Amino acid sequence: ASGYSLMRDPRYNKGLAFTEKERDAHYLRGLLPPVVLSQELQEKKMMNLIRQYEVPLHRYMAMIGLQETNERLFYKLLIDNVEELLPVVYTPTVGEACQKYGSIFRHSQGLYISLKEKGKILETLKNWPERTVQVIVVTDGERILGLGDLGCQGMGIPVGKLALYTALGGVRPSLCLPITIDVGTNNEKLLNDEFYIGLRQKRATGKEYDELLQEFMYAVKQNYGEKVLIQFEDFANHNAFELLARYSSSHLVFNDDIQGTAAVVLAGLLSALRLLGGTLADHTFLFLGAGEAGTGIADLIALEISEQNGKPIEENRKNIWLVDSKGLIVSSRKESLQDFKKPWAHEHEPITGLINAVKAIKPTILIGTSGVGKQFTKETPLIMALSNPTSQAECTAEEAYTWSEGRAIFASGSPFDPFEYEGKTFVPGQANNAYIFPGFGLGVIMAGSIRVHNGMLLAASKALASQVTEEHYEKGMIYPPLTNIRKISANIAAKVAAKAYELGLASHLPQPEDLVESAEKCMYSPVYRSYL
Ligand code: NAP
Ligand code: MN
Repeated sequence: ASGYSLMRDPRYNKGLAFTEKERDAHYLRGLLPPVVLSQELQEKKMMNLIRQYEVPLHRYMAMIGLQETNERLFYKLLIDNVEELLPVVYTPTVGEACQKYGSIFRHSQGLYISLKEKGKILETLKNWPERTVQVIVVTDGERILGLGDLGCQGMGIPVGKLALYTALGGVRPSLCLPITIDVGTNNEKLLNDEFYIGLRQKRATGKEYDELLQEFMYAVKQNYGEKVLIQFEDFANHNAFELLARYSSSHLVFNDDIQGTAAVVLAGLLSALRLLGGTLADHTFLFLGAGEAGTGIADLIALEISEQNGKPIEENRKNIWLVDSKGLIVSSRKESLQDFKKPWAHEHEPITGLINAVKAIKPTILIGTSGVGKQFTKETPLIMALSNPTSQAECTAEEAYTWSEGRAIFASGSPFDPFEYEGKTFVPGQANNAYIFPGFGLGVIMAGSIRVHNGMLLAASKALASQVTEEHYEKGMIYPPLTNIRKISANIAAKVAAKAYELGLASHLPQPEDLVESAEKCMYSPVYRSYL
């Protein structure tokens, strides 16, 4: 390639780091100023620049700008500064970016499949420049974080999630494909926004929706084969549960909001139990929110308890209670409940309001999955406020620590700063599926698994919980710090792959002897390559 196109291609561009020899070999002389910088110095410069932006959205735009011009430098920054940059490219800032996606839109990222592409989805997939893809993250934008329907502008989510697949899980960027399915939006504000990027119509539903999704699922399989992992992200729950049920026997599908969240929360619980003592079966759980996250987590907890005590799962569900927008889920409501809530309709008189439910159920573990901010007002030993972004968290770190007078263990979906209470510094954990999905996906890919199985989710949870040490507990942390996330992901990937082999779902044979080592070996490195 000519030097000019090398420089313009984000996959190959090194900016001022092209060496003298590379500049000669690739006709780059004069196209760059004389200085040659190291990648480290470029990184330092970019970090300085980003830190000067006080508005989070400006930091986001700077990062996306870098991803579009120099991919390796983008990933080097993200990998080396994960705690600092995760809130920029992911929750909470990605939420604001999606709300304003049209206004800040510059280069197109990912692939858009709208109702206009009906009948032409295979052709559309073929327009994507990469022939080999291993992970697709797809959304239809209907439930972006806790921000609701953002239509086509949900694209920020698949783009951000896949950046984490690469940075945290080591999956090469060229193997990752972000997709947004646009069937319209019911968000009036966006429909009236002159810069909105999507179809200007109300959401298609029913047959029209199902047919588009079916065409998409089969086109993906035809174009990329059986072993591409399709991660559903931020679909509204009626579609999310449907899609997972419909395609889990024919495709390699994973719903991050239901399954990934469940695995990360279970890991936090297993780890917290080492602090609180006892087993999962000794606890009473109360969820505020009975959607994808709430029922997904509840299911995995009940499954794990069954593995531990050998009792039927129906039995173990009895200590797990959920509250939705209408109150506590109880048997008298059963007829009118959506299918995914039915297993949780226990015998109890009807109760409305979280406070009344807390009084009646007396939970020892309170988990917020409602997407509604500022809901928790009670003290409980373990509090998880999972709703994203920060504005939607059920309570803040400060609230959790002050209400409980420093006794509560607290974790949240979006990050909170450490909080000092009576001379002691508490570090809130980030209970976010970013801990699980990158390593989980890597494990699935490594093994060439053809299906996702619950056993693989449990394996991922335990692998994550096992990474928490005494030193973390002392600070009140129930998750390991994100700084070591690549190592954590390698461990998760190894355990997930091992489970796939054990279950006979793996297709990459023979099984490598040391799975942690092979996970680490196949991870993408953002260090510049030589073009000589
Ligand atoms: P969802 O499927 O739409 O479920 C939301 C649930 O909350 C529904 O059951 C809803 O009740 C209930 N709810 C809404 N308002 C309520 C209120 N005022 N009082 C009580 N319940 C209320 O959404 P989801 O996928 O579970 O996601 C929920 C939140 O979790 C979002 O903010 C999302 O960002 C967050 N999340 C976090 C992570 C993480 O890794 N930390 C992962 C996934 C999701 P009805 O059923 O009656 O409508
Ligand atoms: Mn999500």
